[in-house]
Amino acid sequence: MDTIDCPKCDHEHKPTGSHEDDQGTTECENCGFQFHVEVEYEPTYSTSCITHQMEAPKQIQAPNGEMINVQFCKHCGRCEIL
Ligand SMILES: [Zn+2]
Ligand SMILES: [Zn+2]
Repeated sequence: MDTIDCPKCDHEHKPTGSHEDDQGTTECENCGFQFHVEVEYEPTYSTSCITHQMEAPKQIQAPNGEMINVQFCKHCGRCEIL
């Protein structure tokens, strides 16, 4: 989960994003219950080619309805607008 949920009343608290501030004892701002917060981080990785191999350009419709020419990398799927 990406919010700090009170174990008693499920009230959601927005994390500050700072490990030191989010971790430790917190008091629920809704019911006053004190609980312990453990911050867990899952590593996420994103990869892309060093050199993209672009496929032949094609025309697609952009979300705003405009037709645009794009190229996709055949390996990682990266989209480049021409
Ligand atoms: Zn609560
Ligand atoms: Zn690529």
